[in-house]
Amino acid sequence: MDIVTRPRILVVGAGFAGVGCVRRLERRLAAAEADVTLVTPFAYQLYLPLLPQVASGVLTPQSIALSLRRSKKYRTRIIPGGAIGVDLASKVCVIRTITDEIVNEPYDYIVLAPGSVTRTFDIPGLTDNAFGMKTLAEAAYIRDHVITQLDLADASNDPAERAARLQFVVVGGGYAGTETAACLQLLTHNAVKRYPRLDPGLIKWHLIDIAPKLMPELGDKLGRSAQEVLRRRGIEVSLGVSIAKAGPQEVTFTDGRVVPTHTLIWTAGVVASPLIATLGAPTVRGRLSVTSHMDLPGHDGVFALGDAAAVPDEAKGEEGAICPPTAQHAMRQAKVAADNVIAHLRGRSMRPYAHKDLGLVVDLGGTDAVSKPLGIELRGLPAQAVARGYHWAALRTGVAKARVLTNWTLNAVAGDDFVRTGFQARRPAKLKDFEYTDTYLTPEQVRAQVEGGHPEAG
Ligand SMILES: Cc1cc2nc3c(=O)[nH]c(=O)nc-3n(C[C@H](O)[C@H](O)[C@H](O)COP(=O)(O)OP(=O)(O)OC[C@H]3O[C@@H](n4cnc5c(N)ncnc54)[C@H](O)[C@@H]3O)c2cc1C
Repeated sequence: MDIVTRPRILVVGAGFAGVGCVRRLERRLAAAEADVTLVTPFAYQLYLPLLPQVASGVLTPQSIALSLRRSKKYRTRIIPGGAIGVDLASKVCVIRTITDEIVNEPYDYIVLAPGSVTRTFDIPGLTDNAFGMKTLAEAAYIRDHVITQLDLADASNDPAERAARLQFVVVGGGYAGTETAACLQLLTHNAVKRYPRLDPGLIKWHLIDIAPKLMPELGDKLGRSAQEVLRRRGIEVSLGVSIAKAGPQEVTFTDGRVVPTHTLIWTAGVVASPLIATLGAPTVRGRLSVTSHMDLPGHDGVFALGDAAAVPDEAKGEEGAICPPTAQHAMRQAKVAADNVIAHLRGRSMRPYAHKDLGLVVDLGGTDAVSKPLGIELRGLPAQAVARGYHWAALRTGVAKARVLTNWTLNAVAGDDFVRTGFQARRPAKLKDFEYTDTYLTPEQVRAQVEGGHPEAG
């Protein structure tokens, strides 16, 4: 009889944190030392920072979806599904597979890296009428949606409908929202040349944020530069303003303005995956509260990192500081977390995570960008070269690098054909449809499932 006695390491989430951790475990652990399993709903790792370029059509969706099965060396067992609850006491993770079966997966070590979801507020109509910018499907959908608005405006003889279809609202003045507004505005600016019946002056983009500054982490000067680029392109930036309510054909701002629009893109921050709440363990602003070793105090063999975890920011040297939710940290935490799992397994001491932020790069489309690598402020072409160079180098596989470079070159040389594919045109596809936030169990339902009861009862 084949009795498996190897420790079982379960990694949840195939993002920057999860995949980085799995690859390190595969490299550093002998196959006989432990079994590694990865739970992920998708068969790829998404390179999120380039998502706005997929939405604007500069990159194809495939070029930033990095395969999890590229090499024969990848020996990890992959469960296609999502973790919907974790019972720390019995060391069981409850998984909903992509065929909607609910299975219990026991573990000896669990590495939680499910990332984050779009942070929403209790604003009337928001989740029913806004798009996010967090998944590949969303980015591809938004591109189609924006081109659809041009097609419908072009076909309409009703001036009010034309005006509404040609107004677009992006909420969130962080790097994700700013890049999204900038890249999509460039898409409509270039596309409208193919619609001789449309008055380009009718196209209006709004970028709004409740904060008084755009991307405050860039500093005053670069934040202002980014704002100047946006204003020059005709994007109306409104600071100190948010959304009071959202409907299918109009959005009301908190300053009283009512903007007729069919396009509301919500990128106002992220919050840890709802999976974290199922643990019933301490959190910091929703992120699992872990030590600088990325383990959970009081629970042997539980590690968490990336956007889902509040990892102390040791390099900052400030009491209570936690690492911001960035790919830069997630990628680096992955290596330390994997090393710490291995150290624990082998009875050795773990090491703390410390990384000094390398700065920020913000691609505003075309030749516009602002970036602050290692504290050096750059704008225009040099900033764009740094932004693209940084992302290109950070792509994990050679084939992804080749695809992205080819797409950039092709786009620069041949431009875009602005084709509306219509793949998902008749499916409901707003914030709540893309991020599956209603799939998780309560801690009580997790216990019921682990004890053999029915998780969805009650
Ligand atoms: C538009 C945009 C632009 C950005 N630009 C930058 C940038 O320029 N620089 C930067 O440093 N950061 C940037 N970020 C932030 C960065 O992408 C995140 O901080 C980073 O992805 C976090 O890594 P992660 O591994 O924790 O999460 P993710 O990369 O989001 O990975 C989480 C993974 O877990 C999976 N998952 C989710 N729930 C479950 C579940 N229940 N069970 C199993 N799997 C699950 C998801 O499908 C995903 O594969 C950007 C983010 C966005 C949205």
